[in-house]
Amino acid sequence: MPKFNLVGSLTSEKIKQQLVPLSIKIINDKYPFTKSKVVKVHVLDTDEYNKTVNKEMSTTSKEPSHNLSITVAVSEGMTFCPDANVYLKYSGDKIKKSSYVHNVIHELLHGLTCDTTYNNNKVMSSVLEESLTEYFYFKVLSDYLKTEDGLPLSFPNQFKTIQLLSNIIPEEQLLNIYIAKDEGLFKKNIDVKLGNGSYDKLYKDMDFVYRNPKSSDEAMQRIEKLLAK
Ligand SMILES: [Zn+2]
Repeated sequence: MPKFNLVGSLTSEKIKQQLVPLSIKIINDKYPFTKSKVVKVHVLDTDEYNKTVNKEMSTTSKEPSHNLSITVAVSEGMTFCPDANVYLKYSGDKIKKSSYVHNVIHELLHGLTCDTTYNNNKVMSSVLEESLTEYFYFKVLSDYLKTEDGLPLSFPNQFKTIQLLSNIIPEEQLLNIYIAKDEGLFKKNIDVKLGNGSYDKLYKDMDFVYRNPKSSDEAMQRIEKLLAK
Protein backbone atom coordinates (compact mmCIF):
# COMPACT_ATOMS: atom_id res chain seq x y z
CA MET A 1 0.00 0.00 0.00
CA PRO A 2 1.29 3.49 -0.74
CA LYS A 3 2.39 5.76 2.07
CA PHE A 4 -0.17 7.09 4.49
CA ASN A 5 1.91 9.86 6.03
CA LEU A 6 2.88 7.67 8.96
CA VAL A 7 6.52 7.01 9.57
CA GLY A 8 7.82 4.00 11.47
CA SER A 9 5.82 1.33 13.23
CA LEU A 10 2.51 2.15 14.86
CA THR A 11 1.99 2.32 18.59
CA SER A 12 -1.43 2.67 20.16
CA GLU A 13 -0.51 6.30 21.00
CA LYS A 14 0.35 6.94 17.36
CA ILE A 15 -2.95 5.44 16.26
CA LYS A 16 -4.77 7.75 18.66
CA GLN A 17 -2.71 10.90 18.02
CA GLN A 18 -2.01 10.57 14.31
CA LEU A 19 -3.89 7.87 12.44
CA VAL A 20 -7.34 8.59 13.89
CA PRO A 21 -7.24 12.40 13.34
CA LEU A 22 -5.80 11.97 9.86
CA SER A 23 -8.48 9.40 9.00
CA ILE A 24 -11.23 11.68 10.29
CA LYS A 25 -9.82 14.51 8.19
CA ILE A 26 -9.77 12.53 4.96
CA ILE A 27 -13.31 11.24 5.61
CA ASN A 28 -14.44 14.84 6.30
CA ASP A 29 -12.82 16.00 3.06
CA LYS A 30 -14.51 13.31 1.00
CA TYR A 31 -17.89 13.44 2.77
CA PRO A 32 -18.38 16.93 4.27
CA PHE A 33 -21.61 15.92 6.07
CA THR A 34 -19.41 14.01 8.53
CA LYS A 35 -17.77 17.25 9.75
CA SER A 36 -20.59 17.88 12.19
CA LYS A 37 -20.47 14.37 13.65
CA VAL A 38 -18.71 13.36 16.83
CA VAL A 39 -17.12 10.00 17.52
CA LYS A 40 -15.50 8.72 20.68
CA VAL A 41 -12.49 6.66 19.78
CA HIS A 42 -10.81 4.24 22.17
CA VAL A 43 -7.60 2.47 21.23
CA LEU A 44 -7.06 -0.50 23.53
CA ASP A 45 -4.61 -3.34 23.94
CA THR A 46 -6.02 -6.82 23.31
CA ASP A 47 -6.97 -7.69 26.90
CA GLU A 48 -8.52 -4.33 27.64
CA TYR A 49 -10.28 -4.35 24.26
CA ASN A 50 -11.86 -7.76 24.84
CA LYS A 51 -12.97 -6.81 28.33
CA THR A 52 -14.46 -3.46 27.30
CA VAL A 53 -16.17 -4.73 24.18
CA ASN A 54 -17.73 -7.69 25.99
CA LYS A 55 -19.06 -5.35 28.64
CA GLU A 56 -20.43 -2.94 26.02
CA MET A 57 -22.05 -5.84 24.18
CA SER A 58 -23.81 -7.15 27.23
CA THR A 59 -25.31 -3.73 28.04
CA THR A 60 -25.97 -2.69 24.45
CA SER A 61 -27.84 -5.84 23.46
CA LYS A 62 -30.45 -5.17 26.13
CA GLU A 63 -31.24 -1.78 24.64
CA PRO A 64 -33.26 -2.14 21.42
CA SER A 65 -32.50 1.36 20.10
CA HIS A 66 -28.81 0.56 20.23
CA ASN A 67 -26.96 -1.32 17.61
CA LEU A 68 -23.41 -2.27 17.00
CA SER A 69 -21.17 -2.97 14.16
CA ILE A 70 -18.40 -5.46 13.99
CA THR A 71 -15.41 -5.63 11.77
CA VAL A 72 -13.89 -9.01 11.35
CA ALA A 73 -10.46 -7.99 10.25
CA VAL A 74 -6.88 -8.91 11.03
CA SER A 75 -6.89 -6.11 13.53
CA GLU A 76 -10.32 -5.76 14.99
CA GLY A 77 -12.62 -2.94 15.78
CA MET A 78 -16.15 -2.44 16.96
CA THR A 79 -18.49 0.51 16.84
CA PHE A 80 -21.51 0.97 19.06
CA CYS A 81 -24.36 3.17 17.92
CA PRO A 82 -26.07 5.52 18.56
CA ASP A 83 -23.37 6.67 20.98
CA ALA A 84 -20.69 6.43 18.28
CA ASN A 85 -18.29 4.66 20.57
CA VAL A 86 -15.50 3.32 18.41
CA TYR A 87 -13.22 0.68 19.92
CA LEU A 88 -10.03 -0.19 18.11
CA LYS A 89 -7.89 -3.13 19.06
CA TYR A 90 -4.17 -2.59 19.10
CA SER A 91 -2.33 -5.86 18.61
CA GLY A 92 1.21 -4.58 18.30
CA ASP A 93 3.40 -4.25 15.24
CA LYS A 94 2.99 -7.81 14.02
CA ILE A 95 -0.04 -6.51 12.16
CA LYS A 96 0.55 -4.55 8.98
CA LYS A 97 0.14 -0.81 9.13
CA SER A 98 -2.26 -1.00 6.20
CA SER A 99 -4.60 -3.22 8.24
CA TYR A 100 -4.79 -0.57 10.94
CA VAL A 101 -5.44 2.12 8.35
CA HIS A 102 -8.24 0.02 6.89
CA ASN A 103 -9.66 -0.78 10.27
CA VAL A 104 -9.64 2.80 11.54
CA ILE A 105 -11.33 4.28 8.44
CA HIS A 106 -13.89 1.47 8.32
CA GLU A 107 -14.88 1.81 11.98
CA LEU A 108 -14.89 5.62 11.81
CA LEU A 109 -17.36 5.44 8.94
CA HIS A 110 -19.68 3.34 11.10
CA GLY A 111 -19.25 5.86 13.90
CA LEU A 112 -19.67 8.97 11.77
CA THR A 113 -22.95 7.67 10.36
CA CYS A 114 -24.26 6.56 13.76
CA ASP A 115 -26.56 9.39 14.67
CA THR A 116 -28.49 9.17 11.43
CA THR A 117 -29.41 5.70 12.63
CA TYR A 118 -30.50 7.26 15.86
CA ASN A 119 -32.49 10.09 14.27
CA ASN A 120 -34.48 7.90 11.98
CA ASN A 121 -34.59 5.08 14.44
CA LYS A 122 -33.55 2.85 11.60
CA VAL A 123 -31.05 0.06 11.69
CA MET A 124 -29.70 -1.50 8.56
CA SER A 125 -29.07 -5.23 8.41
CA SER A 126 -25.46 -6.18 9.13
CA VAL A 127 -24.80 -7.38 5.62
CA LEU A 128 -25.82 -4.04 4.08
CA GLU A 129 -24.14 -1.95 6.77
CA GLU A 130 -20.86 -3.84 6.35
CA SER A 131 -21.03 -3.95 2.55
CA LEU A 132 -21.64 -0.22 2.22
CA THR A 133 -19.09 0.64 4.93
CA GLU A 134 -16.43 -1.39 3.15
CA TYR A 135 -17.32 0.24 -0.16
CA PHE A 136 -17.11 3.78 1.22
CA TYR A 137 -13.91 2.97 3.13
CA PHE A 138 -12.39 2.01 -0.22
CA LYS A 139 -13.64 5.22 -1.82
CA VAL A 140 -12.17 7.34 0.97
CA LEU A 141 -8.77 5.67 0.97
CA SER A 142 -8.33 5.27 -2.80
CA ASP A 143 -9.35 8.89 -3.30
CA TYR A 144 -6.82 10.06 -0.73
CA LEU A 145 -3.99 7.87 -2.01
CA LYS A 146 -4.91 8.39 -5.67
CA THR A 147 -4.70 4.67 -6.31
CA GLU A 148 -6.79 1.54 -5.83
CA ASP A 149 -3.81 -0.79 -5.94
CA GLY A 150 -3.12 -2.98 -2.95
CA LEU A 151 -5.73 -1.52 -0.61
CA PRO A 152 -6.76 -4.11 2.00
CA LEU A 153 -10.34 -5.38 2.11
CA SER A 154 -11.99 -7.33 4.92
CA PHE A 155 -15.12 -7.93 2.92
CA PRO A 156 -13.98 -8.46 -0.68
CA ASN A 157 -17.22 -10.08 -1.89
CA GLN A 158 -19.37 -7.43 -0.25
CA PHE A 159 -17.19 -4.70 -1.72
CA LYS A 160 -17.48 -6.28 -5.15
CA THR A 161 -21.26 -6.50 -4.85
CA ILE A 162 -21.61 -2.80 -4.06
CA GLN A 163 -19.11 -1.93 -6.76
CA LEU A 164 -21.27 -3.79 -9.30
CA LEU A 165 -24.35 -2.11 -7.86
CA SER A 166 -22.76 1.30 -8.32
CA ASN A 167 -23.08 0.73 -12.08
CA ILE A 168 -26.83 0.45 -11.58
CA ILE A 169 -27.53 2.81 -8.69
CA PRO A 170 -25.59 6.10 -8.71
CA GLU A 171 -22.99 6.37 -5.96
CA GLU A 172 -24.69 9.47 -4.59
CA GLN A 173 -27.84 7.47 -4.06
CA LEU A 174 -25.89 4.65 -2.41
CA LEU A 175 -24.44 7.23 -0.05
CA ASN A 176 -27.91 8.58 0.74
CA ILE A 177 -29.07 5.06 1.53
CA TYR A 178 -26.02 4.52 3.73
CA ILE A 179 -26.41 7.78 5.64
CA ALA A 180 -30.13 7.31 6.20
CA LYS A 181 -29.69 3.57 6.88
CA ASP A 182 -32.68 3.26 4.61
CA GLU A 183 -33.02 -0.35 3.56
CA GLY A 184 -36.46 0.40 2.08
CA LEU A 185 -34.91 2.92 -0.29
CA PHE A 186 -32.26 0.37 -1.21
CA LYS A 187 -34.94 -2.21 -2.06
CA LYS A 188 -36.94 0.32 -4.06
CA ASN A 189 -33.91 1.34 -6.13
CA ILE A 190 -33.03 -2.23 -6.96
CA ASP A 191 -36.55 -3.30 -7.86
CA VAL A 192 -37.02 -0.24 -10.09
CA LYS A 193 -33.76 -0.89 -11.94
CA LEU A 194 -33.78 -4.68 -12.10
CA GLY A 195 -37.45 -5.61 -11.80
CA ASN A 196 -39.77 -6.53 -8.95
CA GLY A 197 -38.46 -9.26 -6.69
CA SER A 198 -34.83 -8.53 -7.58
CA TYR A 199 -34.04 -7.11 -4.17
CA ASP A 200 -35.28 -10.24 -2.40
CA LYS A 201 -33.17 -12.43 -4.68
CA LEU A 202 -30.11 -10.23 -4.23
CA TYR A 203 -30.52 -9.91 -0.48
CA LYS A 204 -30.84 -13.66 -0.03
CA ASP A 205 -27.55 -14.25 -1.83
CA MET A 206 -25.79 -11.30 -0.18
CA ASP A 207 -26.82 -12.59 3.22
CA PHE A 208 -25.64 -16.10 2.37
CA VAL A 209 -22.25 -14.84 1.16
CA TYR A 210 -21.89 -12.72 4.30
CA ARG A 211 -22.62 -15.61 6.60
CA ASN A 212 -20.77 -18.29 4.64
CA PRO A 213 -17.67 -16.65 3.23
CA LYS A 214 -16.00 -20.01 2.62
CA SER A 215 -18.78 -21.46 0.46
CA SER A 216 -19.90 -18.31 -1.28
CA ASP A 217 -18.91 -19.08 -4.90
CA GLU A 218 -22.32 -20.04 -6.31
CA ALA A 219 -24.16 -17.23 -4.56
CA MET A 220 -21.51 -14.76 -5.76
CA GLN A 221 -21.96 -16.01 -9.33
CA ARG A 222 -25.71 -15.39 -9.08
CA ILE A 223 -25.08 -11.89 -7.69
CA GLU A 224 -22.68 -11.10 -10.52
CA LYS A 225 -25.13 -12.39 -13.11
CA LEU A 226 -28.00 -10.37 -11.66
CA LEU A 227 -26.00 -7.18 -11.45
CA ALA A 228 -24.33 -7.58 -14.84
CA LYS A 229 -27.67 -6.83 -16.50
ZN1 LIG B 1 -17.78 -2.92 10.02
